[in-house]
Amino acid sequence: MTAATAQQPDWGDLALLERVTRTLHTLPPLVTAEECDRLTEAVARVGRGEGFLLQGGDCAERFCESGPAEVRAKLAQLYGLADLIRSATDAPAVPLGRLAGQYGKPRSALYERMPDGTMVPSYRGDAVNSAADDPGARHPDPARLLRARECAERVLEVVRESWTGRPPLERAYVSHEALLLDYERPLVRGDHAASAHSVWIGERTRQPDGPHVGFARSIANTVGVKIGPTITPAQAVRLSHLLNPDGRDGRLAFIVRLGSIRVRSLLPEIVGEVTRRGRPVVWLCDPMHGNTMRIGAGPKTRPMEAILEEVVAFVRIMRAQRRHPGGLHLEMTPEDVTECITTPRPFWRPPELLRYRTACDPRLNAAQAAEVVERFVALV
Ligand code: PEP
Ligand code: MN
Repeated sequence: MTAATAQQPDWGDLALLERVTRTLHTLPPLVTAEECDRLTEAVARVGRGEGFLLQGGDCAERFCESGPAEVRAKLAQLYGLADLIRSATDAPAVPLGRLAGQYGKPRSALYERMPDGTMVPSYRGDAVNSAADDPGARHPDPARLLRARECAERVLEVVRESWTGRPPLERAYVSHEALLLDYERPLVRGDHAASAHSVWIGERTRQPDGPHVGFARSIANTVGVKIGPTITPAQAVRLSHLLNPDGRDGRLAFIVRLGSIRVRSLLPEIVGEVTRRGRPVVWLCDPMHGNTMRIGAGPKTRPMEAILEEVVAFVRIMRAQRRHPGGLHLEMTPEDVTECITTPRPFWRPPELLRYRTACDPRLNAAQAAEVVERFVALV
């Protein structure tokens, strides 16, 4: 990978990397083209305003949490929230996990501070390096790409087991950020990415001429793009043409993550321009990534109040622009964590984050995720 490619690890051992990517290329696909096309069909229905999509899961999946018990709990949460949308709106809800491949993380900073004050290279996801506090554990290791593929395969076995008895368009599908091109490229089979039913391009790698958008253009799967505050309406229009030149229904989702304040000033024009001059997109709301903050020297958190405000603003703006609010993209876990805070602002006293376990960004716990979904369905 060239240095110009954003957010790629410095793998070090390039001979090993070469062996790993060659091996990935020879392994069977993780998902089939038929499954991917079925998801696209389900998303197309959302695009026509005939249903909703719920995309959710960990910020960073861990290899050590790919066992059947953990995966069943994550699927139960995903299906439960989709059921909540279905019963409240009387419309189908597509469950799409951040699951079976969410092992690579883009990072804004090269280094992070450990609790004891020392600086170590940033954790970039289990597919790249270890999250352990020890600086030695932070070296990127190409062999981790093979473990990522193995773990994804194990997770997918449990996902498929969950399909029994469910209508094809309401089965849980899997998605992750297509960040690590040394993982994604060798896993293409025919004209589909076979690493997941759907992948998305992150806020830091969505340069229209960049290799991640180029990769997404080369595959037929449903793809998402994160829409953050640095995007211009013209760039959003351009991305819609690049990624959905044929105007295929269900092909492209824009995942809006502007933050509770900027969503109000920026989203109306983005939606307006894409509607007038762009190609068809399904609009999703990620109320997590634009609302991240630190209180003092504490870890990253997100206030529930801001998350809920962004959901409300998103739905109102979509309605005003006569577009369908297609659904939600959430970082969430069935575990009883306190990573996002419910304390009302202002924070006279920093809240205690007692059960803070995420390997990367703060997730909604079960009750918080349900509250966000309830707020969404109350408005749509
Ligand atoms: C993420 O979804 O975990 C992420 C890094 O998002 P973004 O690219 O929107 O910052
Ligand atoms: Mn995240």
